[in-house]
Amino acid sequence: MNSSNPPNRSRRSVDDRFRQYSRAAFFASATVGIFGAVAATGRLSSAEPAVGPNSSSRGKGRKDSKVKRWDVITIGNLSRNPYWGESDSQGVRSAICTCTLIQGEGFRLLVDPSLSEAEAMARELDRRSGLKLRDIDTVFVTHEHGDHWYGLAHFPEARWLAAPEVASALNKTLKLPKPVEVATGRLSDAVDILPTPGHTLSHHSLRFDCDGWSIVVAGDAVATQDFWRERRGYFNCVDFDLSAKSMDKIAGLADLVVPGHDNFFLNPPNPSFVKDTDSRP
Ligand SMILES: [Zn+2]
Repeated sequence: MNSSNPPNRSRRSVDDRFRQYSRAAFFASATVGIFGAVAATGRLSSAEPAVGPNSSSRGKGRKDSKVKRWDVITIGNLSRNPYWGESDSQGVRSAICTCTLIQGEGFRLLVDPSLSEAEAMARELDRRSGLKLRDIDTVFVTHEHGDHWYGLAHFPEARWLAAPEVASALNKTLKLPKPVEVATGRLSDAVDILPTPGHTLSHHSLRFDCDGWSIVVAGDAVATQDFWRERRGYFNCVDFDLSAKSMDKIAGLADLVVPGHDNFFLNPPNPSFVKDTDSRP
């Protein structure tokens, strides 16, 4: 498919969904989970019915996850962005990928180390988490494009992990001082490795639960929120239809999506979740 004529798949339905389930509506519904318990306590003493049975549920995620917190370390940007009126034919700025830190019981996992200069990587990690480079014990790379592992060598003491074909591609570059190990299934009994082909055929994303939310760190399976809304692949996507299917898959799993080159954003919840909230007094 020609990148200058991107697929318009599901554009209307996706846009409609975004209009219908606004960010404000989602967070209004989310606060039911946070404040519902307080409201329920008060109401129980006066024998009034508590809020509905689903109100304590924040999202698709489990609350008993081993992931305790997560943070975006660098917010990425694309080298060219058609949603900003820029042509796909040439880059107009350096690309930086979104780099995410996932911390839990016994692990500190960094996804897609983004910055090629060690000092800059260390500064951003410290600025966003208070951690030092040596504090990271595992680094996961979503795919073999250089901007997603520019900073890998700054974490020599960490385990370097990627899905099998990605690890193979990285090791074949001969640019790394030690091999990237193969990872499949689940990391630290907390983070699922998901095949999300399309941008590259071997692309893999990560999914985990934290505090009741399901979060997908998508890598370039989702370029930015604008691309997500249209289920559109970036210009260098190898299979646009497969890319759209991977985004649909992520949409079925995630409350929050961390794209490859943008800040994290909301995946609109299911209609009944919002409808129940909208009907509250
Ligand atoms: Zn890429």
